[in-house]
Amino acid sequence: MGGCHSLGGATKAAAAATPAKKGEFSDIAAHKLNNNSKVAPSLAEKPYLRKAYVSEGIGPVDTRALSALPRGLDRAEWIASNALAFFKLVSLLCGATSEFCTTRSCPTATGPGNKTYYWTDEHGRKVKCSAPLYADYAMSYIQELLTDEEVFPTRAGCPFPTGYIFLVQKVFSYLFHMLAHLYEAHFDNIVVAEMHPHLNTLLAHLVTFTQEFELLEPSETAPLEDLITALLHFHST
Ligand SMILES: [Zn+2]
Repeated sequence: MGGCHSLGGATKAAAAATPAKKGEFSDIAAHKLNNNSKVAPSLAEKPYLRKAYVSEGIGPVDTRALSALPRGLDRAEWIASNALAFFKLVSLLCGATSEFCTTRSCPTATGPGNKTYYWTDEHGRKVKCSAPLYADYAMSYIQELLTDEEVFPTRAGCPFPTGYIFLVQKVFSYLFHMLAHLYEAHFDNIVVAEMHPHLNTLLAHLVTFTQEFELLEPSETAPLEDLITALLHFHST
């Protein structure tokens, strides 16, 4: 998660000066919101919805084919190994953007649509914390979980415990929160660093995977629903 300086103003000005033409994909989300009698977000508020950005990914990738369980593989092992792979990729992106995401720039862990992510402490209390602290908590939690042989056994013949899927759902919720924060708070920095194609492909793949195995509640993905619709339009072949 990262900070909000550098190009924010310039990018917003550029977005305002070059609004999407009628019929461009970026308008679809706005129309949808209008139908729900909500105020449609401008592209300046959500630069990640601009067609020039949302259409960029790391080449043609069939996220549905990548996500589907390969014939002959164990479903639980497939989900666990993908959870680990997504964790590593989100870690890399968060690490690369950590210079932008500080306790000063992001005193609260936020997502699009005024979403605030609270950390639940060991006593079950919801705690408001900075974005980098939330990322630290989440990544430490996930790493501990994924390396726990009791939860994610790596030895041949060791079964996955009953209910492990609920822990996997938790893992994907945290990973999604961190990507949502990057889009909401640091997309301008990410564009400057030319990392947005990777971020787009990663989110498109992660969302497709979670849809395939029902790992994220619609309420979790709702803050990025407009972006997800656009990304799957461009990146799910
Ligand atoms: Zn941040």
